[in-house]
Amino acid sequence: MEHRLFAGATDSHVHIFPQRIVSNPEVVASRDPWFAACHARKGTLRGPADLIEMMDSAGIVRAGCTVWPFADPVLCDEANEFLLGVARDYPGRILPFAILQPNDPSAVAKIRTLAARGFVGIGELNQDAQGWSLDDTGELAPFFEEMAAAGLICNLHCSEPVGHMYPGKGTATPDRVWRFAGRFPGLRLLCSHLGGGLPFFASMPEVRESLSHIFFDTSALPFLYTPRALQMASNLIGTGRMVYGSDFPLLGPARYNAYLVEAGLSPEELQDILVNNPATLFLD
Ligand SMILES: [Zn+2]
Repeated sequence: MEHRLFAGATDSHVHIFPQRIVSNPEVVASRDPWFAACHARKGTLRGPADLIEMMDSAGIVRAGCTVWPFADPVLCDEANEFLLGVARDYPGRILPFAILQPNDPSAVAKIRTLAARGFVGIGELNQDAQGWSLDDTGELAPFFEEMAAAGLICNLHCSEPVGHMYPGKGTATPDRVWRFAGRFPGLRLLCSHLGGGLPFFASMPEVRESLSHIFFDTSALPFLYTPRALQMASNLIGTGRMVYGSDFPLLGPARYNAYLVEAGLSPEELQDILVNNPATLFLD
């Protein structure tokens, strides 16, 4: 189905997997409880061909592409090699995010190499899935400082401190995300799921100030908020900080099309979220 809203758009947040994991998720599920909880339903994983088909049918030109926040560095390495191959197969359409385990002592040393090999960022990092803490003020600092120095985008899984529970929700709540962002002002942050609602605190001057290096994506919002939330967030922080992200294959363009239309944003604001802001985030 064609969705004209998405013509020329960038989807800033999608997930794809190597074929061996798509075909047999149990090989990972048995050693990664977070992955197992999020993919308990059968047949939910997708590979690159399905992603490109979704993009082509909607008119989406490129995608910020992640695999998964694996806890095991060996699975992270496999994911990174896989995504580089996909980026080579579809030149200019796949903006690859590497995944690293922040607790892995060799992670810091890998960052520069990954940047040199063409990754645009690291993510989707997830403190609950990977067993680290956004509130860590010591050991993990070099990891995020190196990421900032290399100019890589940090795609961070965020979640709401209130509301219904769902697999994958986690504890990366706005209070933690805000403190984390304040400790790494040079880090280009892409906060998923509208930063767990962090923009809704932007009336606090000290919060507003700290948002200038953060982009927020729309991933999973139709599951979380009524469409008006997008308009409220844009009133508070401006649409300049928001980018379209789907969390593919969680939700497809048809669902976001309806949601974005219902949000009541102007055509210019929609153009910002879908086209202009991702260009600033990824291509500047
Ligand atoms: Zn995601």
